[in-house]
Amino acid sequence: MSVSTKQMLLSFDLATRTVEQYAAKLPPTQPELTSLLDAVGLVLAEDVHADRDFPPFPRATRDGYAVRAKDVQSPPVHLRCIGTVKAGPAADESAVSVGAGEAVEIMTGAPVPAGADAVVMVEYTEQADDKVTVQRSIKAGDNVVHAGSEARRGDVMVPKGTRVRHAVVAVAAAVGRPEIAVYRRPRVSVLATGDELVDVNLPPGPNEIRNSNSYSLAAQVYEAGGDASRLPVACDDAAELALLIGKGLHADLLLLTGGVSMGKYDLVEEVLASLGAEFFFTGVSIQPGKPVVFGQVTRDGKTTPFFGLPGNPVSTMVTFQLFVRPVLDALGGAQLAPLPFVQARLKESFTSKTGLTRFLPGKLGGTHERPEVELVRWHGSGDLMAAAKSNCYIVVPPDRDHFAAGEAVTVLLS
Ligand code: AMP
Ligand code: MG
Repeated sequence: MSVSTKQMLLSFDLATRTVEQYAAKLPPTQPELTSLLDAVGLVLAEDVHADRDFPPFPRATRDGYAVRAKDVQSPPVHLRCIGTVKAGPAADESAVSVGAGEAVEIMTGAPVPAGADAVVMVEYTEQADDKVTVQRSIKAGDNVVHAGSEARRGDVMVPKGTRVRHAVVAVAAAVGRPEIAVYRRPRVSVLATGDELVDVNLPPGPNEIRNSNSYSLAAQVYEAGGDASRLPVACDDAAELALLIGKGLHADLLLLTGGVSMGKYDLVEEVLASLGAEFFFTGVSIQPGKPVVFGQVTRDGKTTPFFGLPGNPVSTMVTFQLFVRPVLDALGGAQLAPLPFVQARLKESFTSKTGLTRFLPGKLGGTHERPEVELVRWHGSGDLMAAAKSNCYIVVPPDRDHFAAGEAVTVLLS
């Protein structure tokens, strides 16, 4: 085959922008009404509205005594305790009303009774029979959340486009929604290429390795809210590759691994080109992952984005996270978000090489006062164990070759 693809090697920044701009124009998948816990990890396709005021009644935020603040200005103050309110339905709610010189014992989460405008924490009181002594002054509104102050009935509590995590589940449950509309998981075809690959349940021959990338990618796809289907491994053969790529293009996104380097048997780009692919980049100045390819193919009126990820397992993982994830987010209906970069102090010094933006497997730890990160010892981009031990990547800018212990570095969470 003699289809040539133009070299399009981009900087990390430009590649990121290219992906983001593409992602911003992608239409999301169809919304589906889904039971609340099945929706975890997917993206809201509707605004979640308040079905009543939140909180629905003035809520005490402390255990203590509901009082009239103006009664408690010059402590110590002696009040008469006229009853108790707890969270939950009251026997006779309307009966309790706090008058001048009175207090009502109250529990966290209970409705503050009429007449009272503040709650004194139990720690600042003493009670003997029906006499309560308050030791501290208080302002109106202290330890009370007013009815409707968090949301009014009908307000949007969580907007469409938000990924459903536990706190969103809590809001949906609180407004009485056992089912919510979320975008269906984008379908992602995963196609590993290489003559050396055998499947996980077969014994590898002397020069063969097990196909771990199809599985790690399927796991990354699932974690990102997608639904991966693994195609059979493609040999390094143009006709077979073309056939399997053709199948993969029926999905919302096609991910290939292997076969994108400069080797004689790296056929992925030229096969894609022969299928009429449009390429947005065919390399990024990063390590690992430099040969990563991004483009789209239009066939029978359907346009499918694809990534050709380098075959080395850590390269596959890193390039997924840097470039595939934002496209998958967009297909899944999520609002565009920046990559999760944070800063941490280096535990030990290290040296690197200039020229490429590097993403080195790291371990983020330390304390809340001093987050620290250290390099995981690794043997290059084929080192699966280093990847399994790491929880982040230390980002090395292309112009840096030495980092001192204690220096703040950028870390990409993984
Ligand atoms: P390639 O990008 O095709 O040149 O692959 C580079 C190296 O990555 C290969 O020599 C294999 O050691 C490894 N590799 C490629 N594909 C896979 C895969 N699916 N699973 C695990 N390792 C792979
Ligand atoms: Mg290969």
